[in-house]
Amino acid sequence: DLKLDGNRVTELKDIFISIKTASQNHVSRLQLLINTWVQQAKNQTYIFTDQRDEALENVMAGHIVNTNCSRDHNRRSLVCKMGHEFDMYIVSELRWWCHVDDDTYLNVKELVRLLAGYRHTEDWYLGKPSLDHPIEVINHVNPGPKLAFWFATGGAGFCVSRALALKMVPYAGGGRLTKAGDQIRLPDDCTIGYIINSLLHKELTVIDKFHSHLEALWRISPADIITQISLSYLMTKERTNIVNVPGFPVEKDPTRLWSIHCLIHPLSSECLRHVDR
Ligand code: UDP
Ligand code: MN
Repeated sequence: DLKLDGNRVTELKDIFISIKTASQNHVSRLQLLINTWVQQAKNQTYIFTDQRDEALENVMAGHIVNTNCSRDHNRRSLVCKMGHEFDMYIVSELRWWCHVDDDTYLNVKELVRLLAGYRHTEDWYLGKPSLDHPIEVINHVNPGPKLAFWFATGGAGFCVSRALALKMVPYAGGGRLTKAGDQIRLPDDCTIGYIINSLLHKELTVIDKFHSHLEALWRISPADIITQISLSYLMTKERTNIVNVPGFPVEKDPTRLWSIHCLIHPLSSECLRHVDR
């Protein structure tokens, strides 16, 4: 169902952005995204969660999907959620599907610029692997030779073109992503890589401007922040991994996402409200 307007340059309205979250993260993580970058892509962004939240539904009317997947962090629940993201993207008929986690800052302008450089009518899987080699697994359902494939880390965000997504439907659509996940017994992002790289034999194109908290975020030069596409953070008792960026004091902006956002969008209403830098 690729539209005949294939030569028009890709714009924001052509992109379906899905955020995977969990009910326990609505306040602690998701609200920060809604207050910052989601404001730049409100019509294009859909949030996939596991429990009703009226407050959230009021803020993001029509853009919250309650997947009914289990609330836990086990592999099958995560794959279940990603399956819902995929299905809704297919129904959207848009040119690109981009997935992010709920601890990801998305630089919407740069994302659009990136995707405008690729044809949605060709097969594209854009993202950043966290391994420097293909992952090796055995197929638990159909025993055979070891599988080795590349996958884009979900925490860095990844994008799939419409042409490729349509080829994924037999393996990922209508709940079948769970079956694919059971074959390799790995999480959702690996399952997407398995389908694309192993089953469909399409390559992952590495985008260096995508960043998960699995890489050393503090090593990105502050001068390069505004041109990156995705950035993340990690804050646990044991370890913090945050971007080195000027802006709000760390006490006020521990994740650094507000500082990133207001560096990129200094004149946005949400940043003008925070003049007490
Ligand atoms: N997540 C989820 N259900 C859970 C735990 C996490 O859907 O029970 C989602 C979470 O909202 C996030 C992603 O999975 O978008 C990754 O979770 P997290 O950042 O906590 O862990 P990581 O895998 O990055 O260490
Ligand atoms: Mn994370």
